[in-house]
Amino acid sequence: MPRYQEEEDCRQKRQPLQWVLTLREQFGTGWYDEYLRTPWWKNKRHQKLTSVNWRCERCNARAEQVHHKHYNSLGREKNCDLEALCDPCHNREHGL
Ligand SMILES: [Zn+2]
Ligand SMILES: [Zn+2]
Repeated sequence: MPRYQEEEDCRQKRQPLQWVLTLREQFGTGWYDEYLRTPWWKNKRHQKLTSVNWRCERCNARAEQVHHKHYNSLGREKNCDLEALCDPCHNREHGL
């Protein structure tokens, strides 16, 4: 798939997939931890990190985290919905 098409896709209005919504209902506040354990996310996370050579997109240190820019596309994230970050940049993003 050409790259522009994926970027295009990221601007479309989307919603989380049904299985993610079901996860939310099932696990309540713990749903996100459960989500991070799914094979889908593990695969997506790895794909994202590989696409940026495991480099933090802000400071070029080794990326350890894949940050969600938003949660509108859970279950079908594109690389452009995500940001690969090192621990310090990720903590800063979350105000920790
Ligand atoms: Zn960084
Ligand atoms: Zn984050």
